[in-house]
Amino acid sequence: MTGYKNVMIVADIEGSSGCWSYAGSSFKTRQWVRACVDMSRDVDAVVKSLFQQGVRKVTVKDFHRTGYNLLPERIDPRCRVVSGYRRGPVPGVGNPSGAEAVLFLGLHAASGTDGFLAHTLTSRISALKLDGKPLPEIALFAASLAPYNIRPIFFSGCPVACRQAEEIIAGIETFSIEKNGDPNDFDAQRWRLAMAAAAAASLQNRRAAPYLPDGPFHATVTMREGEAAAGQLAHRWGLDCRGPQISIRAESFHELYRDLIRICYLTPMTARILPLSLALFNLRGRFGLAWLRRRLKKR
Ligand SMILES: [Zn+2]
Repeated sequence: MTGYKNVMIVADIEGSSGCWSYAGSSFKTRQWVRACVDMSRDVDAVVKSLFQQGVRKVTVKDFHRTGYNLLPERIDPRCRVVSGYRRGPVPGVGNPSGAEAVLFLGLHAASGTDGFLAHTLTSRISALKLDGKPLPEIALFAASLAPYNIRPIFFSGCPVACRQAEEIIAGIETFSIEKNGDPNDFDAQRWRLAMAAAAAASLQNRRAAPYLPDGPFHATVTMREGEAAAGQLAHRWGLDCRGPQISIRAESFHELYRDLIRICYLTPMTARILPLSLALFNLRGRFGLAWLRRRLKKR
């Protein structure tokens, strides 16, 4: 059986090999510098191993915070690294047309669960449930790619995150990273090569189908900042709210994702001028990456 030839990688930092604390996932910290370098190494190892298995095209989408964490100059030049966020048609990604499968690297568990740096979209949400079950990001990302017939074939993150991915997406292959130990005892290179080999093996994965569950859906979003913040957000977007919990009723997964993006990242004002808002957001990311490169030169 021949494997997929055109694949996409969605890369996050929390479950990558160099992020060991919240500081490592934060913007412009000493720990973030290290985490970005190791995240780039993880992605590079996977890209090399995919090409070795006969893949012809790899597109890497940086999906952490600003979208500017990866150092493309440290990643195999045969792939295309896409930094920053696009408006659509797939939120954040743009047009993924052509990709047959997606691999998720460095992801984390859902808000309100006990995984490493667990959150969904933003740490301002303390719990996010869809029809009573925790909703991890992979569900949103995989569903947003489903209209393009893209199969979610591989996932890497902490053991809790891997379990959640397996529960949601039948047939997805996972490779976990244990974050409870001492980072100094962690053999990153060994883990990375094993993870890259598992990622390459998933090119044969035909069990995982594009993920798009049927609605309607009911999601509850509990805001960490409490009742007043939740009430304000709900009012702003015309949603129901009870105490610190916002209620979203959506006919489709895309509608649900749209409402979550609104709550987490937008105001009606920034939504109206979205192209400009995104350009400014991406600019901040670009400055951050320039800062990172200066820090690395000084070392
Ligand atoms: Zn992240």
